[in-house]
Amino acid sequence: MEDTYVHQGKRVKLVNELASKGIINKSVLAAINRVPRHWFFPKDFEQFAYRDAAFPIGHDQTISQPYTVAIQTQLIDIQKDSKVLEVGTGSGYQAAVLAEMGVRLYSIEYIKPLLEKAAKLLSNYKDRVTLICGDGSKGYAKYAPYDAIIVTAGAPTVPESLMKQLNIGGKLVIPVGTSVNDQEMIRIVRLSETKFKREKFGSFKFVPLVGENGWNN
Ligand code: SAM
Repeated sequence: MEDTYVHQGKRVKLVNELASKGIINKSVLAAINRVPRHWFFPKDFEQFAYRDAAFPIGHDQTISQPYTVAIQTQLIDIQKDSKVLEVGTGSGYQAAVLAEMGVRLYSIEYIKPLLEKAAKLLSNYKDRVTLICGDGSKGYAKYAPYDAIIVTAGAPTVPESLMKQLNIGGKLVIPVGTSVNDQEMIRIVRLSETKFKREKFGSFKFVPLVGENGWNN
């Protein structure tokens, strides 16, 4: 797969656009600048890859808008080698951005063909990315606790099982809403064994989180 000067130039423009929209974390912007987003697009549509917009990837799912990827990544506030769980691998783009930031990533996806496609695109990061097929609305207890959990599908409520899989000081970022198509970005910070802080970061539109703690459709 190629990554031409034209692609790279479009990426620089996108990164500048994200910075102008308020993304200030330099390592998030640098990672977005390094990941060829067009590789994660359906082949015939790669000309849309550097617009700040979500795009369909099949199976009624989407690759998230770059601004959304950037803000969620900024909100989990991770360091190199942080242990992170992503719920909703989708195209694998968000996972690649996290891997570029040097985290140890576990990413779980419900739809097997999407996961298989993402696995090919993420093969360069095999040493730091583990992909799992399953229901991430319950988290993934096997590798818990995590320094951060990022949920890339809209949930009806914040699943308690995800909160319990955070380290003390760990952060969970999850879009939550009473309607399937309209969510508020919520960040939960685990302050102690029993105490959690809840913060809100504006409105977003995600595809629904399904599964046991999701919309069950
Ligand atoms: N992070 C993705 C990317 O970078 O392309 C965007 C993901 S898309 C907006 C949301 C994904 O969440 C879909 O691929 C969907 O199949 C997945 N999903 C929904 N409910 C899930 C669940 N309970 N467990 C795992 N994945 C789920």
